[in-house]
Formats: sequence, C-alpha cells, structure tokens
Amino acid sequence: MNQIRRIGIMGGTFNPIHQGHLILAEQAREYCELDEVLFVPSGNSYMKDSDEILDGKTRISMTALAIEDNPFFALSSMEVEREGATYTCETIRELIGTQPRAEYYFILGADALFSIESWKEPEEIFKSCILVAAARDSQDTFSLTEKAMELQTKYQARIVILPERKIDISSTEIRSRIRKGKSVRYMMPEKVFHYITGKKLYSGG
Ligand code: ATP
Ligand code: MG
Repeated sequence: MNQIRRIGIMGGTFNPIHQGHLILAEQAREYCELDEVLFVPSGNSYMKDSDEILDGKTRISMTALAIEDNPFFALSSMEVEREGATYTCETIRELIGTQPRAEYYFILGADALFSIESWKEPEEIFKSCILVAAARDSQDTFSLTEKAMELQTKYQARIVILPERKIDISSTEIRSRIRKGKSVRYMMPEKVFHYITGKKLYSGG
C-alpha cells in the first residue's frame, strides 16, 4: 500500500453538471489509472456572469446526484465554501496540504486549456499537477496538440491528451434549451434531470 495515490481534480461551474463532464472524468480516470476523481464545483463570484450561475448549494446537490453511484468519484465543496473569488491554484494547494504524497491530475476540456494561462498562477498549476485534456469539438484536436506543445515548452507543463471522444454537450446549451422549453433529457444523468425539472431550474422564472 505504499503506492502513490493518483487523484484527479475535475473543476467546473457544473451549472448544471452533464454527461460531458462525467464521461471526461471517467475517461481520465481509466486512461491515467486514477484512484479517485474529485469534483470541485466553483464558487459563485469568479469569471462568469454570476446571474446565470445557480447558487453553490444547488450545484453541489446536482453534482452529488450525478456522481453518487460511481465509487471512484467524490465531491468537494471547498470552492463553494471559500469566501470571495475561488482560484484553481488555491484549490490545488489546499488539496496538496491534506495529501502531500499524492500525485494530482487536473482534468479539463480544450477550452479550459486554451485559457489556462490567464488563470491565477498558471505556473503553480503546471508545477503541481499533470494536466489531462480532452477535445470538445472538431476544431479542437489539432489546436489542442499545438497548445499542449506550447505549454510544455514554455512552462515544462506535463499534459496528457485523451484519445478522441467528443461529447457535444455544454451547460450553456442545456440552460438555453430549458429556457426555450426544449428537451434536455439524457444530456445529464436521470437523477439530475428530475432534480432540475422538479425545481424548475433554469426556466427563466
Ligand atoms: P458552460 O457552457 O456554462 O461554460 P461547460 O459545459 O463548459 O459549461 P464547465 O462547468 O464550464 O461546463 O466545465 C468544466 C470543465 O469541463 C471544463 O474544463 C470544460 O472544458 C470541461 N467540459 C465541459 N463539457 C465538456 C465536454 N462536453 N467535453 C469535454 N470537456 C468538457
Ligand atoms: Mg465552460
């Protein structure tokens, strides 16, 4: 039992969580032989227009429902509970503080890898984690490899690109479909779908 534990970190707004997030996390877990993937829903005040973002408690509840039957998946409310803006580098630091001997894998989609240099202390993220990135749409594949090479050269970042499996689902599309009264069934786990429908979330009042 002296093996180093491999922990995946799956950060996101999860507004709401959907199959794209879950398939990405599961694929990363299998491909990188992770012992665990920790889902970390973001706090409310960072980067995105907060009106559209449901409160942390609701996003935590949906995430909990989505992952509850996967023994490898766990949930952390550390970002939701943190005061003020939440930053990935701080989350990683906090996790390392609790389990310093583990190896950390930060899981993200191509769009997040493209913007990661604008995040707070990207060097810190590259130093402390292996990045596991996936393409989201057909334009991503080539540019993802290019971006990974650029970050490797510039920061000695360690980046794993997952074998292609593009899941064309986004929370933005889900929110927009709900507003228009269109179906979002099967874009997310059944339990999350019922939670959203039951509480009439995202329907615009
Ligand atoms: P929004 O449209 O509100 O931005 P989103 O679908 O992009 O929502 P986020 O919570 O922003 O979801 O994403 C969290 C992480 O999951 C990011 O790294 C993002 O790139 C990744 N991700 C989200 N959806 C997919 C998908 N369909 N395929 C691969 N990665 C995804
Ligand atoms: Mg997004």
